[in-house]
Amino acid sequence: MGSIADTTTLANGVKMPWLGLGVFKVADGPQVENCVRWALEIGYRHIDTAAIYGNERGVGRAVRDSGIPREQIFITTKVWNDAVRAGRDAVLRAFDQSLQKLGLDYVDLYLIHWPVKEKCLEAWEAVQQIYLQRRARAIGVSNFLVHHLDDLRRHSGTTPMVDQVEFHPRVLQRDLIAYCRQHGIQLESWAPLMQGEIFKIPLINELAGKYGKTAAQIALRWLIQHQVVAIPKSVHRERIAENAAIFDFELSEEDMTRIDALDRNQRVGTHPDHFDF
Ligand code: NAD
Repeated sequence: MGSIADTTTLANGVKMPWLGLGVFKVADGPQVENCVRWALEIGYRHIDTAAIYGNERGVGRAVRDSGIPREQIFITTKVWNDAVRAGRDAVLRAFDQSLQKLGLDYVDLYLIHWPVKEKCLEAWEAVQQIYLQRRARAIGVSNFLVHHLDDLRRHSGTTPMVDQVEFHPRVLQRDLIAYCRQHGIQLESWAPLMQGEIFKIPLINELAGKYGKTAAQIALRWLIQHQVVAIPKSVHRERIAENAAIFDFELSEEDMTRIDALDRNQRVGTHPDHFDF
């Protein structure tokens, strides 16, 4: 893992960059276009959006305007809960809308955003159809705990390639790490910086001093060394650059263990078993 362009290889052979730019709560139009453009200039080759973020148009425009060949950029989007609840055809329609807003022929990764009760299997069938039509190069899920993954695998007979979950030093989820490793599922972290809360943790700040890096860089490096893909969000050019400068140092095994010990099973977002939106 020596550079910003380094990738992990998904179960179907598709390569996914370890680091991406997240664009949750970034406004469509100039704001998202600017931060995607800056990220691509800095060397990011991976952008994480979702239908519910309302900024797929701007993401697509910035990607198309970058002049970088499409196949060099990894784009993720996600199907929102309303479509999942409405069933198979609604998921297929939601995908068409995302593709149209992005202005692209395909996405690199399409995810079911949340494990909507009783409806995941049907949504997964639609997502698999999209994959078989080669309109998504890889498919997966988000906010799935071990029991959700187990259910889906048992009933569908197939395995998602990626699971994107809240993952940071306060919610380490060893069971999920072990399960994903066993079944060839790539884990991806959302809220890698705990939506800003990471900066309040004394150990992270202490290690920033020790390694001559920033707290954000320590938290992101910890994820990469755990072989978890990270998609930090920022709308500031200098922070987007800072968050990518994590490939020139390595945390010692001892410091990895010290960060692991920060785990409190504590989330900044909704618990996947208790969401209702
Ligand atoms: P995050 O942990 O990436 O934190 C983002 C916040 O941290 C920013 O708003 C900024 O205030 C601060 N920040 C970023 N870089 C910084 C730096 N270098 N120094 C100081 N402060 C800095 O939180 P997030 O945006 O919730 O998560 C990242 C991405 O994950 C999202 O943008 C989105 O793409 C994805 N996401 C997915 C889900 C899901 O349900 N699948 C949920 C939330 C987020």
